[in-house]
Amino acid sequence: MQNKPVIQMLPDQVINKIAAGEVVERPASVMKELFENALDAGATQVDVDVIRGGQQLIAITDNGCGMGRDQALLSIERHATSKIRSEADIENIHTLGFRGEALAAISSVSRFTLITRPEEDLSGTEIQIAGGKMLSVEDIGCPVGTRMEIRNLFFNVPARRKFLRAEQTELSHIRQLFLVHALAHPETGMSLKVDERMVYNLPMAGKMEDRITELYNHGFFEQLLEIDHSDAEYKITGYAGLPQTGRKDRQDQYIFVNGRPAAAPVVYHALNEAYHSLIAKGRYPAVFLFIEMEPSLVDVNVHPTKKEVRFRRPNQLRDAVVAALNKALTFQTLEEEPPTSN
Ligand code: ADP
Ligand code: MG
Repeated sequence: MQNKPVIQMLPDQVINKIAAGEVVERPASVMKELFENALDAGATQVDVDVIRGGQQLIAITDNGCGMGRDQALLSIERHATSKIRSEADIENIHTLGFRGEALAAISSVSRFTLITRPEEDLSGTEIQIAGGKMLSVEDIGCPVGTRMEIRNLFFNVPARRKFLRAEQTELSHIRQLFLVHALAHPETGMSLKVDERMVYNLPMAGKMEDRITELYNHGFFEQLLEIDHSDAEYKITGYAGLPQTGRKDRQDQYIFVNGRPAAAPVVYHALNEAYHSLIAKGRYPAVFLFIEMEPSLVDVNVHPTKKEVRFRRPNQLRDAVVAALNKALTFQTLEEEPPTSN
């Protein structure tokens, strides 16, 4: 018989690396976590830089609240968060983050630099970590806000690195994620640079209309109908594309629940139902849908990357979305009806 197995607690560094496997799937997931942090920090400007599909570098700079040295050192610890305090808070989340694990996870599988300064401090802090090992902590002159640089993602996780796709594939995930944030936060200025080339540079927009026009074009915007619907539980706003905006995938369908992107099957079903007599099967109209509800009616805690959300009353939600879309689409039909001649 072999040696008796001995149970031991794992060191933090190992725990973080295991956790990173769940939170950090690819460069775009790093960008997502850092982007959410910037927004939670109240940034009005977020600038993203990626090199080689994010595998060489992902850098995010924000002008949010920044962190003092002690807070910055805490921020990279696992389960350290400023966003919830108690068990009860989990039922009532108002920020994008809350799990307190992203920075610990990301810094354990990359060469990680954090540069940050809060308004009240004269100088900032720079922390360097490689594969979860702290290399240095120094004072540094920098603007108010935070910059995070992630180099050589998965340099110490060969298995993960092997599963990264071609640069172009990783880039398209990054671009898609950027678009999602751009639409969710028209009030925030943001830019995306790829291999030193500016791809998007979006000014703060007062209205969703301006952001959509900036991202697509004016002609596209004219093919959208406004959605504005509320009942006792849901407030649904946004834009529904005319059937001619249809394409053969869901690329132009954006759904947000309480400001959080949510690719929820129940909402897709509602879209299918509302459009089924208007659009050919297998075509998907452009839709920008913003659904607001009591935080307690939705569970965002089901998946570490928060990709999936669960609704307390899915059927009711589906009915509300169908009603909202029908209202927008019917209104258009009535408007387009030629005047009757009798
Ligand atoms: P979470 O976002 O779930 O709290 P993170 O590991 O992403 O966990 O971040 C840990 C903490 O670090 C946050 O709660 C926040 O207080 C702080 N933090 C992270 N990013 C920023 C940022 N860009 N600006 C200011 N504070 C930040
Ligand atoms: Mg976070």
